[in-house]
Amino acid sequence: MLLVDGKIAEGAAATAYGWVQSIREQKTITFVILMENREPLQLVIKDKRLARKVKVHASIMVKGRVAMTERAPRGYEIHVEEISVLNKPRKIPPFDIMAKEEPSIDVRLDYRPVDLRRPSSMAVFKIRARALQLFREYLVNNGFIEVNTPKIIATASEGGSALFPVMYYDRQAFLAQSPQLYKEELTMAFERVFEIGPIFRAEQSRTMKHLSEATSLDVEAAFLSNEEIMDLIEGMVKHVIKGLNSEPQLFAALKAKPPALPERFPRFTYSEIIEKLKGLGEDIAFGDDLTQKSLEEFGNMAGGFYFITEWPAKLKPFYIMPKENGLTSSFDLMYMGLELASGGQRIHDPVMLRKSIKEHGLPVSSFKFHITPYYYGMPPHGGFGLGVDRFIMVLTDRKNIREVVLYPRDLRRLVP
Ligand code: ATP
Ligand code: MG
Repeated sequence: MLLVDGKIAEGAAATAYGWVQSIREQKTITFVILMENREPLQLVIKDKRLARKVKVHASIMVKGRVAMTERAPRGYEIHVEEISVLNKPRKIPPFDIMAKEEPSIDVRLDYRPVDLRRPSSMAVFKIRARALQLFREYLVNNGFIEVNTPKIIATASEGGSALFPVMYYDRQAFLAQSPQLYKEELTMAFERVFEIGPIFRAEQSRTMKHLSEATSLDVEAAFLSNEEIMDLIEGMVKHVIKGLNSEPQLFAALKAKPPALPERFPRFTYSEIIEKLKGLGEDIAFGDDLTQKSLEEFGNMAGGFYFITEWPAKLKPFYIMPKENGLTSSFDLMYMGLELASGGQRIHDPVMLRKSIKEHGLPVSSFKFHITPYYYGMPPHGGFGLGVDRFIMVLTDRKNIREVVLYPRDLRRLVP
């Protein structure tokens, strides 16, 4: 909190509250960087007795006068006349927040709020917050309405086994693995919807890109073809990256910058990719999933963002619209070897939907409430789910998803 008498100008009286990030002592004066509302504010203390009260990590209140100077991060500094220490650390911090060397991710997570005082760690979450704002801005400007759907559900939304059971009074329920079915139903009334919320997946392996609780950006729109949905997600990604490119100061502490944007994201069909992989000595039979190794090899060749389209039906969930030859109107958005989003056109005919649920080996009875509205005029629709955490990894050039989630949950970690 910063209170200034009148404008920020030479000699103005100022009061600042914040925490001490660093102290630099010189012969006669002491420079302190006070973090005030997540931004550095330079303090100049000329009285050594006053300076001795200040410790790194302490919360303080200072009163003084503004001095305009190019040498301070904000273009001004505060010449301190009075200091109150509001609270000071009682223990030696687990690591030096200004050290060049990064502590291990496990130590960082064990002391997460302290870790967030490290400039690079704070930068990741400022970028994350800004990216979420830009996603929303793009979608709202394109006629989407933000919705919230339940996270406690009765049956799996996609089939599959990666579900967390929970006790729901005297019954069993599950944590939602995606808002898929709800967002599709909502296109009936709202035409264009999106949700930013948690998805829960009981992932059995420990990887750098899977968590048990992730944040998904789910988008669903009536009347768009598969190609148009790809145009939409491409437009959205470009909007976010261009927005961030215009704020380079957000990236200063990271020694990274947002990924480069091609004129257009290349679109390869699944079949084209397995052909190209043959050229790289990788033999994937039609209908088999692309292995992580092959995705990485292909990703290195493609470089940056690209789409994989027209996946075989057996690799996609029941709600995806089939095409001829066992293919589907579907896509994955990739960045190098990393899957960022899956989407496509959906089945909107109730009879076809029932049939597809059966063919995917799922019990139709569990989907009764989902199929019912389809009999009352469901519009043709499509959409995608984008992993927000994975997208932030790409934006900030972090290799471990745990770095870009405040309190990650994985196979091992349930605290803090
Ligand atoms: P993957 O094959 O990488 O496990 P998926 O195909 O199972 O992903 P989808 O069901 O398509 O995932 O979910 C949409 C998006 O949500 C994914 O593209 C990914 O970005 C993100 N996502 C899915 N599962 C996780 C997870 N466990 N942790 C983090 N992000 C996830
Ligand atoms: Mg997927």
